Amino acid sequence: MSRLELAGLTKRFGAQTAVDALDLTVESGQLISLLGPSGCGKTTTLRLVSGFAIPDGGTIHVAGRQVSAAGTVVPPERREMSMIFQSYALWPHLTVAENVAYGLKLRRLPRATIDERVRAMLETMQLGPYAARYPAELSGGQQQRVGLARALAVEPKILLLDEPLSNLDANLREEMRHEIRRLHDRFHYTTIYVTHDQMEAMTTSDIVAVMRDGKIEQAGSPEDIYERPLSEFVARFIGSTNILRGRRAGEHVADCDGLRLACESGVFSEDGGAIVSIRPHRIVLGPPPEGEAGPNEAVGTVERAVYLGSQRHYIVALEAGTRLQVLASSDVLAQPSQRVGLTLPPGHCRALAR
Ligand code: ATP
Repeated sequence: MSRLELAGLTKRFGAQTAVDALDLTVESGQLISLLGPSGCGKTTTLRLVSGFAIPDGGTIHVAGRQVSAAGTVVPPERREMSMIFQSYALWPHLTVAENVAYGLKLRRLPRATIDERVRAMLETMQLGPYAARYPAELSGGQQQRVGLARALAVEPKILLLDEPLSNLDANLREEMRHEIRRLHDRFHYTTIYVTHDQMEAMTTSDIVAVMRDGKIEQAGSPEDIYERPLSEFVARFIGSTNILRGRRAGEHVADCDGLRLACESGVFSEDGGAIVSIRPHRIVLGPPPEGEAGPNEAVGTVERAVYLGSQRHYIVALEAGTRLQVLASSDVLAQPSQRVGLTLPPGHCRALAR
């Protein structure tokens, strides 16, 4: 079992704290992605886990054994971890099979064991036909698969992936996301996957940990993070959303410029302010209500209408000035300048703390 525990992990560069008392547990066999904007400390966290960087504070344990603490680390080569970088760094003068065998030879395994493991790994990765080719004779996706095969062949306790798909084109990235998840379902290595691409994180991960300023802002299943964000930062970072601000008008009710919004989930902060998040596809666009708009109803004017194939994207300006993004089925037709009614169902209005 290879449970990974980071506790109070801290790394400073001069005056800057890149990783700030970070706590994270990756259960054995889980794939967790670290997702966050550039500079939030994802790569530094991964380098601390790999042993390439030394923490200033906190500890890292693998399967109950301490491998890092302030000023002391077990070196990378003795951690039984495999790390894959953006540039997959294959040996150009070695064939595919020799690249995959590389780590096994370093471990001085018997020849027959190496041959069998390489053969099985090439087969799993659908690289058998390319065994005798050199990296320069492969496509980007094939090279990336060789990188993965090489990392997995040594049967690491922990697998660390740092933006492994960022050098691939869009189609290949999408294919490889599923490939990575398929491999994970097969091998169940305890894995940390660093990315700033939310679709990649959601496709590959058991748990998505959203990072901000060196800390984990929220960690949960992809659905949890998307449907039940705890902060405005997470709501905005995972998918697009509308944020409405106002005052609390009841325990679960906000008043946002005269628009009363009952929220069935989330909590407001205690200071009387209210922040409400609702996803564009959850807002229902229709004709303006007859008479006064009721709770969770608004009247506005279409400012922009964009046809997206299966959906239409609208920007609707409310009478109080707020602009809302609405994603509707392409059957729902409205023209710019048209007055429309919007329903913001309480079940999809989420109260956020400040
Ligand atoms: P990106 O998505 O851009 O790769 P990241 O989330 O991986 O970003 P890190 O590379 O971990 O972020 O960097 C976190 C912060 O620490 C950044 O502000 C960065 O400038 C700083 N930093 C990282 N490495 C060093 C270093 N060796 N020396 C000084 N500062 C560093």
